Amino acid sequence: MPVAGGTVQINLGAGRLHLDRDELLQWIRRAAEAVTTFYGRFPVEKVHLRITPVPDRRSVSGGSTYGTDPPTIRVSVGDRATRAQLEDDWILTHEMVHLAFPSLERRHHWLEEGLATYVEPLARVQAGQLPEKRFWREFMRDLPQGLPSRSDRGLDYTPTWARTYWGGALFCFLADVTIRERTRNQYGLQEAIQAIVRAGGNVSKEWPLQKALQIADENSGETVLTNLYGEWKSKSVTPDLERTWLRLGVRNRNQEILFDDTAPLAAIRDALVRPSAHGVSGRNTAPLKIFGVFV
Ligand SMILES: [Zn+2]
Repeated sequence: MPVAGGTVQINLGAGRLHLDRDELLQWIRRAAEAVTTFYGRFPVEKVHLRITPVPDRRSVSGGSTYGTDPPTIRVSVGDRATRAQLEDDWILTHEMVHLAFPSLERRHHWLEEGLATYVEPLARVQAGQLPEKRFWREFMRDLPQGLPSRSDRGLDYTPTWARTYWGGALFCFLADVTIRERTRNQYGLQEAIQAIVRAGGNVSKEWPLQKALQIADENSGETVLTNLYGEWKSKSVTPDLERTWLRLGVRNRNQEILFDDTAPLAAIRDALVRPSAHGVSGRNTAPLKIFGVFV
């Protein structure tokens, strides 16, 4: 399947699926469109996508991305998965976000997962696949899981599930807001990690963390990522999230998301969910053609 700037080669494993071929391809195309919207192009020239049907399961039940060359994504799809479940799936988008960032040393795994956790819903909301208020409701609900517990020793030394996924997402989110504040909302984390893709960074490459942070920081002319990493890597830091929501002008009142456009960072809140004005090569507008499914 050609996508903007790349090809997804699909391999469907043996087994039955309730979904038909078009529904499966539509799911893959949506995920590719979300990451293309976020990065301005598909982040790698080619990816192998291996889909494994899983008996007696519903929905998409798991995924992994491997830094082979070309990279490989493996996803498991339940044989009873429906079209509606695929439309609501986040897993394939999460895996495709992994394509756009270099592989790091084991102790920095929180940044790889944190970035995928943070970017996946943003990419879907920017592509019009996830409603803005639902994004904020779920993000505000889930992000506090990333706050450090009493025994925390900093992101590089606390490899728990919560700190890896949501602690990493917390790092990315606060870096994003800070870059936008420092650059008068001209740049954000989105442009910073687009710069990594432009510099040839992707999951098939192994980079030192400092190189990734430095290239990302050069984009905005600030050192937000390098500084925040220095503060958080080996120390427990608890940011004031309530204050951040207040400054962004977003709150949850009995599950209803309310926006305050007079809040000091309201424009930043708005920019987070819109496609970048500095897209690498513009949005994917080319019609998609299907070459075939390789079984
Ligand atoms: Zn992941």
